[in-house]
Amino acid sequence: MAETFLVESPDVTYSKDFIEAKYTYSTVHVCKENGVTKVRPCSTRFTFRTGRQVPRLGVMLVGWGGNNGTTVTAAVLANKLGLSWMTKTGRKKANYYGSLLQASTVCLGTGPAGDVYVPFRDLLPMVHPNDIVFDGWDISSLNLAEAMRRAEVLDWPLQEQLWPHLEKMKPRPSIYIPEFIAANQEERADNVLRGSMAEQVEQIRRDIRDFKDTSGVDKVIVLWTANTERFCDVVPGLNDTADNLLRAIERGLEVSPSTLFAVASILEGCAYINGSPQNTFVPGAVELAAQRRVFICGDDFKSGQTKLKSVLVDFLVGAGLKTKSIVSYNHLGNNDGKNLSAPQQFRSKEISKSNVVDDTVQANPVLYGPQDKPDHCVVIKYVPYVGDSKRALDEYTSEIMMGGTNTIVIHNTCEDSLLASPIILDLVILTELCQRVTFCTEADPEFQGFHSVLSIVAFLCKAPLVPEGTPVVNALFRQRSCIENILRACLGLPPQNHMLLEHKMQ
Ligand code: NAD
Repeated sequence: MAETFLVESPDVTYSKDFIEAKYTYSTVHVCKENGVTKVRPCSTRFTFRTGRQVPRLGVMLVGWGGNNGTTVTAAVLANKLGLSWMTKTGRKKANYYGSLLQASTVCLGTGPAGDVYVPFRDLLPMVHPNDIVFDGWDISSLNLAEAMRRAEVLDWPLQEQLWPHLEKMKPRPSIYIPEFIAANQEERADNVLRGSMAEQVEQIRRDIRDFKDTSGVDKVIVLWTANTERFCDVVPGLNDTADNLLRAIERGLEVSPSTLFAVASILEGCAYINGSPQNTFVPGAVELAAQRRVFICGDDFKSGQTKLKSVLVDFLVGAGLKTKSIVSYNHLGNNDGKNLSAPQQFRSKEISKSNVVDDTVQANPVLYGPQDKPDHCVVIKYVPYVGDSKRALDEYTSEIMMGGTNTIVIHNTCEDSLLASPIILDLVILTELCQRVTFCTEADPEFQGFHSVLSIVAFLCKAPLVPEGTPVVNALFRQRSCIENILRACLGLPPQNHMLLEHKMQ
């Protein structure tokens, strides 16, 4: 049995292959009738079915030889091998700190000795990161050991132990279209595919099949952690529908490498995750994923400054303070920073970072009128000396009671790749889990999976991709509750309501 606990309830059954749970989903419907706002509690009966067999998972990273790609691969290997190493402040041991699933807990319920917490990963059967097999592509030919040294992220005694293992891993040649990333990246592009656009997509598809066949994994997920690209234009006839996008690839028209990878993955039936800010998921790619019933998720890992912002503004506005100005400076010295020093690539990041407080502000019409929102400015500078140790400096200014002002200034040192790596693991593990979850309702008794735009992973993304016309949630703890409560629903457990009523009685 993979589970560390069993739910005993008439609504929950465990079979060899599935956990099946009946669940009442309670919502509130609000409408205006004859000038009166009517509020009606509603409930829907769901049945959730979660596959219990955890597959052997293969993850293919686009940008495998980059700081994130090498760090996540090295970290998983170090954990798997149980490595430890000396630093000037003592011995450090490999761990998964920063991973929602591996290093945070959820409250299962209350026992005789009080609340019982379990690791998030124990809620449902999930892939363990130590069991993930990595592969991937990079336009730079360095093997993973040399690329790890280039990244300057991990302590040297750890790099020495990992070297013989990583040396054997070499990124596959990739699709390189110079105009999409900064010109300063050209010097590392020595591992690139040739041929027409369609031929290159075909090669990526062959690579995915080859990895699956030779590594023995049951399932492959592809994740983009390559350089940030410039935005591409959404053009009717070019990339607005799945057919047009496929035709554009055949004809070699303007399609970004990240979209080409998305198309190749979707056509191979592999979920595709975008860890960078660019608009990879043009409408044609979204439609293709829906047609093929393949998950796509993104955009842009939510690792440091934005994560804090999506907590802090939620706190300020949620406490009734009117945040008027948010100014964020970043400086970083890794290759990501070098790429972002070009205006078009910076623009992609600026867009991705800028909408993060919108939902919080819109949810408070007491403080903000329809056109009212805080001034929000984002600056990113490339300073090679600080390397991967990005500095994020934020100033939040809010109006408080009777004309007063509250200013909070934060200096946040974000060792970028060490923050992003556990997020990469959470993204692929949650996506894989969602592939094993189906559900039906009394009204629609046929089992279905989640929408192909997988928005449950929003906690991990700076600019969450959601199905068209559905709300975008940026506030971090609402995003966390979403994951926790959906996983609880799969076990027939009620959502966490934090009411603690049992402790509030005489
Ligand atoms: P990096 O520059 O170290 O790595 C990117 C790698 O992608 C490089 O090795 C490069 O050679 C490769 N590459 C570029 N174009 C490619 C292509 N077409 N095909 C295959 N490989 C290609 O950057 P990083 O620090 O690892 O960050 C990766 C991405 O993740 C960036 O876009 C960054 O903005 C995004 N991101 C990072 C964080 C973080 O905290 N580290 C947070 C959010 C988003």
